[in-house]
This record gives sequence, structure tokens and C-alpha cells, in this order.
Amino acid sequence: MLIVKKFGGTSVANKERIFHVAERCIADYQKGHDVVVVLSAMGKYTDELIDKARDINPTPSRRELDMLLTIGEQMSVSLMAMAMNHLGARAISLNAFQVAMHTTSAHGNARLKRIDTERIRRELDDRKIVIVTGFQGVDKYDDYTTLGRGGSDTTAVALAAALHADACEIYTDVDGVYTADPRLVPTAKKLKAITYDEMLDLATLGAGVLHNRSVEMAKKYGVQLVVRSSMNDSEGTVVKEVVKKVERMIISGVALDKNADRISVFGLPDVPGSAFKLFNTLAKNNINVDIIIQSAGRDGTKDISFTVSHDNLQDAMDLLEERKEVLGFERIVSDRDVVKLSIVGAGMISNPGVAAKMFECLYNQNININMIATSEIRITVLIPEKDAIKAMNAVHEAFGLSE
Ligand code: ASP
Ligand code: MG
Repeated sequence: MLIVKKFGGTSVANKERIFHVAERCIADYQKGHDVVVVLSAMGKYTDELIDKARDINPTPSRRELDMLLTIGEQMSVSLMAMAMNHLGARAISLNAFQVAMHTTSAHGNARLKRIDTERIRRELDDRKIVIVTGFQGVDKYDDYTTLGRGGSDTTAVALAAALHADACEIYTDVDGVYTADPRLVPTAKKLKAITYDEMLDLATLGAGVLHNRSVEMAKKYGVQLVVRSSMNDSEGTVVKEVVKKVERMIISGVALDKNADRISVFGLPDVPGSAFKLFNTLAKNNINVDIIIQSAGRDGTKDISFTVSHDNLQDAMDLLEERKEVLGFERIVSDRDVVKLSIVGAGMISNPGVAAKMFECLYNQNININMIATSEIRITVLIPEKDAIKAMNAVHEAFGLSE
């Protein structure tokens, strides 16, 4: 069996943890398996490197920043190989260049294009444990790139796909995927299994356990994942295409995204093209918009509200103020004190009334809903920030996830 095992920063944060991981991997190797290990940088080392860069130059070039950040993963893989060697095991570390992990040139947010497997295969055939740097790649100019924060998960899944691995295990500091963040919802339960689509929504909506692009990739190549803790032996959560009915509730999880702000544009001309002009202005400036609602027209004008991420709020407001004349609206207002609360579940497709139940639950708590957005497997509401925790717990309970 060929197993890809990925360990995050906390799992390799110090000498003791490194040896713990080394032992776990050696145990699999000694059962006769081929073992490929993907590592993140130790602890918060990537953050420290970014701070170092900013201290020298507040706006470092992305190429140079990637050059610096690749050190983090290179440090953990080499130390891990040394630890395994010290324990008497055959192991070798490889960086993105040595493997040949080809990516696009988008420094800081590169996408994997192709992975050469020849070198890894050769080392595995030589009965070595192969330890690969997560997060980094190499572009067509032979420059280092990185895949975006948390990108080591994606490296692991891509390697599992390229090597046709029999298992892909993602080890982290939590012991699986929960029905909600246990720090916010004390009755949250660990899920035995979750579908790719649900996981993708939860990852995108701030559940944080997996890099969302790793889930996209797992779905595309049919790589079944297990998310587990590196600190204990509990079973973890399987991420796969279909989860059997008996294993599931209508809703799999409740996610809270505090990173959403709302902008309302009042008095736009009620004519064809005004929504296009508004959102095109934002898109051209790389501002991503999420939930959108438009009011019914009256007196030849209409209002449009939408959400943007917190980082983009000021830019979006400045930009729209600047284009006020061209876009023809009367005024804009922003609201920071809002959060996005979502419920996610593949069971929604075959169960009517899920939205009504969520709204009823919020009504019972006297919580006002500002905006609503839905997809086949997700319902998102924008609510006041002060009600976030109360709402999250109430909805979690209402859908039977607390039992
Ligand atoms: N070390 C990188 C980061 O901190 C990649 C990762 O941890 O997955 O974002
Ligand atoms: Mg991570």
C-alpha cells in the first residue's frame, strides 16, 4: 500500500513532536507500506518569515517572498529525515525543485500543474520514506512559488493523486471535522464522514480544517481523504464522494464567517446595465462579492446590497465613492457588524423545508436576518454580529446536531 501522510505546523512544532511524527511514519513503513510524508513549516514559522520580510521591506516582491517562505518547509523536511535516520530508518527529504512540482507563476497563490513522480518512485523503490515539502512549487522559469496559506494540504492531495496512493491522511491539531467549531458550540460532534461538496463549502466558509483547494482537487481526482489528529489515535473524519444515509443527518455542519461586511448602494438608476456597471467596477479591482440582494424598483431607482470580505471593505467603499457620478447612485452605506451563518448538508437536496426550519429557529431567538443566499446544499444568512454565537448554537440544536 502507498500512503501519503501530511502533517501541519503544530504537528512538527518542536523536537518532541518531530520524533512523534517520525515514529508514526516508521510504524507504517515497517508494516511494509510505501510512505510519502508531506510537511508544513514548523509551528508559526511561515508567519515569522513574513514578519522578517516586512521588517526589511513593507511590500516585498512576491517572488522574493516565495523564495524566503520555501525555507520553512525545507527546514521541517530535512529535520524530519534526520529524526527518522536517528531512529534507524531510511528516509530522504525532497523539496519542490527536486521532486519537480510544476506550478503556475502566480507567486503567493500558484496552482499545481503537474508533478513528476519519477524521483519519488525511485526513492520508494529503494525502500526509503520520502519526505516532501508542502506548500511550495516551481514555475516555468525555475523560480520558487507557493500555493497560498495552508497550501500543504493541496500538495498532499496532489501527490496522492499523482502517485495513485491508496490512502491520503491529513494530520492536524484537531481530531477531525466537526459539526461546528467546538470552541463556539460546546455540543459540536465529530463527523465520521462528509462529502467533498459539503467539505468544500465548510472549508470556504471558514471551518478552517482543510485548504479549500485541496478539497477541490480531492474531488476532481477522487482522492479519499482522512482528517485525523497527530496527537491521538482517534479515527478522524473521512472526506469522500458519497456519504451513506445511515451515516448522516440532513445537515452536516454549521459554519460562522466573521469576515463578511455589507455594503448597501441606494438609489441606483433602475435601468438595464446598472448592476453590471456596479459589479464590473468591483471585479476589475479584484474585489470579490458574495451575497447580493436587489430591491424592487421604485420611482426609477433601486437599491443593491452585497457582502465583501473585511479586507476589501475600505477599498470597495473608496472605489464606489470615486465612481459615484458614473454609476449614478445616491449614497452608499457600509455595515461591519454582521456575520455570515451557514448550514451545509447534502441531505437538503431531498428534504424540503430546511430553509424554513432555519428561519423559524432564528425567529424563535428573535434574530433578524439581513440577507439570505442558498445553493443546493447550503443556506447562508447574514445576521448581526452580536447574535452570532446564540444563532449558531440554536441552529446546531434545531437540526439535531447536538444529540
Ligand atoms: N506553512 C504554510 C502556511 O503556514 C503552508 C501550510 O501550513 O500548509 O501557510
Ligand atoms: Mg492547515
